[in-house]
Amino acid sequence: MAGKLIIFSAPSGSGKSTIINYLINRGFDFKFSISATSRKPRGEERDGVEYYFLSPEEFRRKIAAGEFVEYEEVYQDCFYGTLKSEIESKLNAGHNMLFDVDVKGGMNIKKFYGERALAIFIQPPSIEALRTRLEKRATDSPEMIEKRVSKAAWELEFAPKFDVVIVNDRLEEAQAETERVVREFLEK
Ligand code: ADP
Ligand code: 5GP
Repeated sequence: MAGKLIIFSAPSGSGKSTIINYLINRGFDFKFSISATSRKPRGEERDGVEYYFLSPEEFRRKIAAGEFVEYEEVYQDCFYGTLKSEIESKLNAGHNMLFDVDVKGGMNIKKFYGERALAIFIQPPSIEALRTRLEKRATDSPEMIEKRVSKAAWELEFAPKFDVVIVNDRLEEAQAETERVVREFLEK
């Protein structure tokens, strides 16, 4: 049987990665969809692990060659996209796949896969909380934090289009609720 898709989208800093890591630690067996991006690696990120890091020229070549299921310019000059080669083989082999994509990418994947996909929106308690989390995470420059925060209000408008909205205020509650909806979806 072909695998199912779990899509996570959220404004940057909402706690999406934290919640995804929790699910992995709880023993869910997902294959990650590794996206391609034209941004530079940050911290310990390695090519082919967190992302396929491409130059802007390589990224454009792959767009022209029709190699993406979807792609977006998530921030100015920062492209991110899901490669067809990345997901088709894994899904057909029966693996459930996990996607961490921006709100538009999430909606596009959901539209394409319909009932086979569960689209989850992780919502921060407020935009101020988001800013504080990004500052504390300390992985982005002040300019990049500004870019991320200023996009959040627009991103929050997409929440009602998702199958499930999880408000990540108290982390333990958000984690438990996410685990519940994912389990229910996979058992259907
Ligand atoms: P995202 O993947 O959505 O960009 P992260 O998972 O990296 O977000 O979380 C951003 C920062 O906020 C991290 O430093 C994380 O430890 C912290 N964080 C996550 N959830 C909460 C929460 N409920 N309360 C306070 N801080 C949180
Ligand atoms: P970051 O730079 O923090 O790793 O990611 C920035 C944003 O790009 C996040 O909102 C993330 O979900 C999104 N993103 C990552 N990969 C993809 C992808 O393949 N497609 C789309 N549309 N967005 C992505």
